[in-house]
Amino acid sequence: MFNVLRRQFSTKISVMAAVKSYDYLVIGGGSGGIASARKAAEFGVSAGLIEHQRLGGTCVNVGCVPKKVMFMTAMQSEMLHDSKYYGFDIENKGFNWSTIKKSRDAYIKRLNGIYERNLGNSKVDIIRGHASFTSDRCIQVGDQLYTGKHILIASGGKPVIPNVPGAELGISSDGFFELEDIPKKTAVVGAGYIAVELAGILKELGSDVSLFIRKEKVLRTFDSLISENCTEELKNSGMNLVTNSTSVSLSKESDGSLTYTTSQGTFAGFDCVIWAVGRTPNIEINLDKVGVELTSRGDIKVDEFQNTAADKIYALGDVCGKALLTPVAIAAGRRLARRLFDNKPDLKLDYSNIPTVVFSHPPIGTVGMTEGEAKTKFGEDQVKVYKSTFTNMYFAVTERKQKTVMKLVCAGPEEKVVGLHMQGLGVDEMLQGFSVAIKMGATKEDFDNTVAIHPTASEELVTLR
Ligand SMILES: Cc1cc2nc3c(=O)[nH]c(=O)nc-3n(C[C@H](O)[C@H](O)[C@H](O)COP(=O)(O)OP(=O)(O)OC[C@H]3O[C@@H](n4cnc5c(N)ncnc54)[C@H](O)[C@@H]3O)c2cc1C
Repeated sequence: MFNVLRRQFSTKISVMAAVKSYDYLVIGGGSGGIASARKAAEFGVSAGLIEHQRLGGTCVNVGCVPKKVMFMTAMQSEMLHDSKYYGFDIENKGFNWSTIKKSRDAYIKRLNGIYERNLGNSKVDIIRGHASFTSDRCIQVGDQLYTGKHILIASGGKPVIPNVPGAELGISSDGFFELEDIPKKTAVVGAGYIAVELAGILKELGSDVSLFIRKEKVLRTFDSLISENCTEELKNSGMNLVTNSTSVSLSKESDGSLTYTTSQGTFAGFDCVIWAVGRTPNIEINLDKVGVELTSRGDIKVDEFQNTAADKIYALGDVCGKALLTPVAIAAGRRLARRLFDNKPDLKLDYSNIPTVVFSHPPIGTVGMTEGEAKTKFGEDQVKVYKSTFTNMYFAVTERKQKTVMKLVCAGPEEKVVGLHMQGLGVDEMLQGFSVAIKMGATKEDFDNTVAIHPTASEELVTLR
């Protein structure tokens, strides 16, 4: 086989070492790939993991982790503003972006090291470089060919940059994490959770933010309560929300400022424009050579067991375009490794009732079906909804007032809780426990039978009428 491969690649590669073989070969050292490779190694199989950038993938380097640090920075700012109402006489001498950027970068560097050590401790070989398939199920990284009895594609995704003139003058969420200072005036384009989160962080930290969205509301795939309330909160925050706006062009003026033209007109004077208009899978790995198929959206097509169309080649995480979340990639990766190497042939990830938080201001927590989805599935008359709107006690003494909104979606005569949607202070930490109950099939009566914790915002969920 080696000779055949040598002939095939002799035009490109002068000297090719012998093909190195693993039981499990993983493309992508992000959330899903690392979790799956380490789990597989627990069962004594040989595992190799290929990564061409920093270990940890999107989440650690340009996603959840640095984003949450910046969210917490923004929360500090909110609390500083409120502190005088709690009796503190604090002089705020200003905010230094580079202080938090340095500590954030150092933290991420530590995490990169921890990931590397953990892979070493698990005896997973780290292969540095860009992976792409050759024929014969091999994977080429530089001059070296690798193969695996089982191959996992966990190559994640990347931000979409819109196809408009001057788009390259803007940055993506990746670029946001490289900013050395806070922009004075920022345009954020997009209505999904990344757009909402980045716009909120920048606004709280003092940038003059305009958020450009294509329709009337943000987070349109979320429950209507969340979509409406979040849109309202963004307006309340003083952000300039430009609705029904589609991108036309971006240009640079002689003073260096950016002018953004949309279907709603021309908006000038930005020092930063952030495209947050979606993500697309990393599939530049010659998938056609091994028969891995794509969906109509261009994601890798897998069945419920993460099998692709090619024998013994699997895919999971963002590259499959379903529930783009770190814990989803990790859970799917661990289950796949156990299915393949721990004799658990039926093990797979259940993609229902995945809880998720949007780190907006205030945060959003949601799990299960929206009211609309539940009505489509069970019928209008089979769905009962319980709602509440109140002001968290934190705001009892502050000038600033912020609503908390909650909705329980219940189905059938037994009123099984099939959806929970909320936005308000603290709901980000409130959701996980309630998700366990919902995953276990809790009914409204189970919620009602639980004694409230007073005074908290979460007690509202067990006292809804
Ligand atoms: C701004 C932002 C905020 C987010 N916030 C959250 C959050 O709060 N909570 C949450 O759960 N999720 C969040 N996410 C989503 C989360 O980061 C992803 O769902 C998760 O990282 C997906 O894991 P993965 O293993 O599929 O891919 P990734 O973590 O992206 O890993 C893929 C890896 O493959 C590597 N790779 C790609 N192609 C090749 C190749 N050909 N050769 C070698 N290596 C390759 C990449 O360099 C990368 O390291 C956020 C994402 C973004 C962008």
